[in-house]
Amino acid sequence: MKTSDIITAKEWLTEPKKIVIIPHKNPDGDAMGSALGLYHWLIQKHHEVTVIAPNEYPLFLKWMPGDDRVLIYESNSTKANSLLLEADIIFTVDFNALSRIEEMQGGLKDTKAKFIMIDHHQAPEDYAAVTYSDVTMSSTCEMVYNFMSALGDASLLNKDVATCLYTGIMTDTGSFRFASTTPETHRVVASLIENGAENATIHNNIYDSNSFHKLQLLGVALKNLVYMEAYHTAYITLTRAELDAHQFKKGDTEGFVNYGLSINGAKLAAIFIESEQDNYVKISLRSKGSFDVNTFARRYYNGGGHINAAGGRSDKPLQETIADFKNYVAHYQNELSL
Ligand code: 5GP
Ligand code: MN
Repeated sequence: MKTSDIITAKEWLTEPKKIVIIPHKNPDGDAMGSALGLYHWLIQKHHEVTVIAPNEYPLFLKWMPGDDRVLIYESNSTKANSLLLEADIIFTVDFNALSRIEEMQGGLKDTKAKFIMIDHHQAPEDYAAVTYSDVTMSSTCEMVYNFMSALGDASLLNKDVATCLYTGIMTDTGSFRFASTTPETHRVVASLIENGAENATIHNNIYDSNSFHKLQLLGVALKNLVYMEAYHTAYITLTRAELDAHQFKKGDTEGFVNYGLSINGAKLAAIFIESEQDNYVKISLRSKGSFDVNTFARRYYNGGGHINAAGGRSDKPLQETIADFKNYVAHYQNELSL
């Protein structure tokens, strides 16, 4: 973090302020963990704080402390718009471009609030007066920990803050196994456990909360798995009919794409999921090594993310989207087939 940003943020947060914290649409563990971690820190400094999520998020995240106070923009836009309008400071966490909050951008039109961005995605936009962006970070939650420490508030790391931040670091690092997990990540995690994060309970809340239907859907996904051995590329498809047959709920397909990448030798994995209204296909991409799925998602799927984890969408029907994907992969024969 730049020293000048630390000084600015510290000064802004000296007196109690009206603060709104915004995670990205379809928030994941890191987005909700960083938003609620910030929340539990800032209320101790007597700010008036509201977390506003653009839309609903999966049940496996709905146990985090403070969850009951999160406002959902999609279903409470009038109240949310007035909070956004009156806010002194708006934190945006775990995203790099305002388009990631979609409809909620409308609520930012007339706000006089100053923005603070905390994020680890590539190519951050420059809407924030204070931008703490670092693509080498494991997670936004690790950055919130750094931010708190840099502002001299390490002593405010209580159990609620620690629990939320631990959750996001754990989910964004695939339980501390991705290459983004550094010695510093482990030092931060150690400090979170020392300050009250119950690692076994958190792991259980997130990963051992599967519904029967979700596991059956995983079975379908694994049956649909295709491996293009020549390109070391795996992909999974899920049609709307398959999702409906298994009472699909938001978040049920989280992590499915990683099964493709677990094939011995796989370098690229994708999952294609038909959206609710059948008008687009949601795509998640994962890679191992130097294959850059962020660039791939930007080029073909109007998306983005990180080098080894990215996403986007296709407006074509599923079968056409798959045919295109095979062609795109063939363009990268040199990189993928070695
Ligand atoms: P996931 O595949 O788990 O949804 O997302 C993986 C990564 O890609 C995350 O960092 C997420 O923020 C990013 N990502 C997913 N979908 C999109 C998208 O549609 N647009 C952009 N810009 N990034 C995305
Ligand atoms: Mn993240």
